[in-house]
Amino acid sequence: MTINNGNNSSNDNAERLDFVRQIVADDIAGGKWPKAIATRFPPEPNGYLHIGHAKSICLNFGIASEFGGTCNLRFDDTNPTKEEDEYVKSIVEDVKWLGWDWGKNLLFASDYFGQMYDWAIKLIKKGKAYVCDLSADETRAYRGTPTEAGKMSPFRNRSVEENIDLFARMKNGEFADGAKTLKAKIDMASPNFNMRDPVMYRILHASHHRTSDQWCIYPMYDWAHGLEDSIEKITHSICTLEFENHRPLYDWFLDELGIHHSQQIEFARLNLTYTVMSKRKLLKLVQENYVSGWDDPRMPTISGMRRRGYSSEAIRNFCKTIGVNKFKSTIDLALLEHCLREDLNKTSPRVMAVLNPVKVVIDNYPQGETEMLVAVNNPADESAGTREVPFSREIYIERDDFMEDAPKKFYRLTPGREVRLRYAYFVTCTGVIKDDDGNVVEIHCIYDPETRGGDSPDGRKVKSTIHWVCAENAIDAEVRLYGNLFTKENPEDGEGEFTENLNPDSLKVLNNCKLEPYLKGTDMLSRWQFERLGYFCVDADSTSEKPVFNRTVSLRDTWTKVKK
Ligand code: ATP
Ligand code: MG
Repeated sequence: MTINNGNNSSNDNAERLDFVRQIVADDIAGGKWPKAIATRFPPEPNGYLHIGHAKSICLNFGIASEFGGTCNLRFDDTNPTKEEDEYVKSIVEDVKWLGWDWGKNLLFASDYFGQMYDWAIKLIKKGKAYVCDLSADETRAYRGTPTEAGKMSPFRNRSVEENIDLFARMKNGEFADGAKTLKAKIDMASPNFNMRDPVMYRILHASHHRTSDQWCIYPMYDWAHGLEDSIEKITHSICTLEFENHRPLYDWFLDELGIHHSQQIEFARLNLTYTVMSKRKLLKLVQENYVSGWDDPRMPTISGMRRRGYSSEAIRNFCKTIGVNKFKSTIDLALLEHCLREDLNKTSPRVMAVLNPVKVVIDNYPQGETEMLVAVNNPADESAGTREVPFSREIYIERDDFMEDAPKKFYRLTPGREVRLRYAYFVTCTGVIKDDDGNVVEIHCIYDPETRGGDSPDGRKVKSTIHWVCAENAIDAEVRLYGNLFTKENPEDGEGEFTENLNPDSLKVLNNCKLEPYLKGTDMLSRWQFERLGYFCVDADSTSEKPVFNRTVSLRDTWTKVKK
């Protein structure tokens, strides 16, 4: 795989087209479709969108924008028991945040229930569909096995009149849930299970989030999906590989009805290491309080990633980098984080923050004085300019950056050693003060006033530069550090439930962090690099009394290592 930094414009012809785009390009060149091409992103509103959906969104909306077509945002809301308006709202927000535009085409499959019903009657009249009284268990048993043909339902040869009557009565609510189904009459001996008289409608006395109690029969996915595509005159109906075996059925319905026939194209879904992607599993994490909600920053949901500090550009670049193909694979989470760092490196201003502070007193610095030092906002972007950082006699540094009895290779602060304070001065450690338990509570140093700005006029070298925050006007903050949500590359590994592989250390809350005063009142979702510590953003829980920051990602890029 080649890494693409995402700077290429989306329709850069020099890039090799993926197989889906190649089909679209060929169709356009061959004049297959009379009008502009049309795609759709069809989420079922039964959960929040995750990073796998982002792959599908970028594919469908990306193709529409590159080839001068349109992409609909269509809610595939055919299952009333699991769907909610909360999910619809979150999906709309997430697709918009990712930067895509559906224009006026925010659509709902439930708006087509009437048309779908009429088409079902058309199939009944053609003798291609029948009302069946077999229970769900019987239907399964009648379907046969991969090596054995199925058995015909005893209701398969009902007359057209009887079927029309029974189907109308199903719709009118005369029968209990599960008492009857409408099935397509295809081929009980087909090697493809999906063609063995699949169920088109089931009875379900359930209230729907949009149609309320208007319907008590609901269409099955295989029946509904192609009709939705057809109604919307979709040209390329792009879905994931599990539906490859469903394509003959998709085609059969459209051909039997003789209506607009979209082309179904299957691609491999995104799998990521250390991540579960199914909405059912993500729902379990939410419902059983393993996480704080769908937007918990550890969740692979778009809303969780947004809260964590991901930019939409980083997600789009990731989708572009992984490309689209037909082979099942699992992408290394490190690649997603690599794309994230590439973007944040360019866009995040640098500031200094100390997460695990210990106080340093500079004994020869004038008492009560504060001076302003100049710091660079972003070495990767000169236009970001500089800012002023206060410095005075007492500062905080990371506890990790000091060691009393340091091994040879420890180059940071230790008694007798001189180091550079970033943008400030050279300081030399002269001693420490400890509490009764022997913990260092204060470090004493002297500074060299000649090294202001961090350079020594006599060319003296120091082996390390450490970050710091001025004690007097530091902002106190809470910082949340995140690890992988699961301990195993494949969270499904092992005998038990996937939840047994949850990482107990995936969230670490630090309550006593010190931030440079520049961060006061920083905007929600604004992103920063805390020098030497990683990329951070303001969390939704943040208040002016108690700022809360999330670590989006650390600085260390493990992807480049993986590649070597
Ligand atoms: P899940 O298995 O997570 O519940 P789903 O496929 O049931 O997902 P839908 O709401 O039906 O979720 O999906 C909407 C669209 O997103 C579909 O076209 C589906 O193919 C696509 N999609 C879902 N998961 C992935 C994934 N991991 N990678 C790529 N596309 C995906
Ligand atoms: Mg689904």
